[in-house]
Amino acid sequence: SIVYLNGDYLPLAEASVSVMDRGFLFGDGIYEVIPVYAGQLFRLPQHLRRLNRSLSEILIDKSYLPEDLEEVSANLLSKNNVQNASLYWQVTRGQSSQRDHRFPSNTEVTCFATVNPLPSAAQQPDATGRKVISVEDVRWQRCDIKAITLLANCMARQQAENQRADEAIMVRDGFAIEGSASNLFMVQQGCLVTAPESHWILGGITRELILEIAREKGLRVSERLFTLDDLLQADEVWISSSMREIQPVVSVDGQAIGNGQAGPMWHQITEYYMAYKQKLYNG
Ligand code: PLP
Repeated sequence: SIVYLNGDYLPLAEASVSVMDRGFLFGDGIYEVIPVYAGQLFRLPQHLRRLNRSLSEILIDKSYLPEDLEEVSANLLSKNNVQNASLYWQVTRGQSSQRDHRFPSNTEVTCFATVNPLPSAAQQPDATGRKVISVEDVRWQRCDIKAITLLANCMARQQAENQRADEAIMVRDGFAIEGSASNLFMVQQGCLVTAPESHWILGGITRELILEIAREKGLRVSERLFTLDDLLQADEVWISSSMREIQPVVSVDGQAIGNGQAGPMWHQITEYYMAYKQKLYNG
């Protein structure tokens, strides 16, 4: 595939960065993942807004960004000639001459983008119930920044994998916060509940769209914290992300949720969500 690196478009095998890059040495950078459906970038303004916010929050000067991200995104899609894909963006604080925690001055950022084809299954709603486990949230206090520093997330996800589960739910101070790479919803007495935006979660673009659709359709919605106990007692549980879209969860720590199948509100919201995507691409 063709990737973008610091102003150039080149084959993946020819793209390389220095071992002195702060992304490599410190995990000092941020990223973004944007779905592409029918050759079009999905919710691009929202993704670019979050990318810019991540950059500001870690004090990377945007004036160092080599080009218009929207234009590069479009170029990359056409060069790779993809219809359904994910576009990955990563920006690090660039390379230093020495390993030094302090930010280097006048260093150009490293800006990298690549596209990966989506498995076709991801384009259809999938009512197959997912199994999740709960893990202690040992991440830092700025989970709202989409930082490439993902060690705690990777360890949690691998723990889920080792237990044949599909996702790990982060629990902080007893509250079920979000997944290792997804946001978390529950349905309780007909109300759709998800953790509010804060430093404890990543403000997911899919989460935002689910809330937008639910409100528009007049469903009851509440953004508030809830405990792992609440989650286990919920009528429905879902996880959401740009790659997974909206997935129904049928067991948490081996305990069945509801009747152990995707629930009615999941079916309803997924239908609205698919209709929203359809409308976008059929003009
Ligand atoms: N929370 C975390 C920790 C994530 O890594 C992700 C995405 O990968 C999400 C939530 C979901 O965000 P989005 O819907 O924007 O993909």
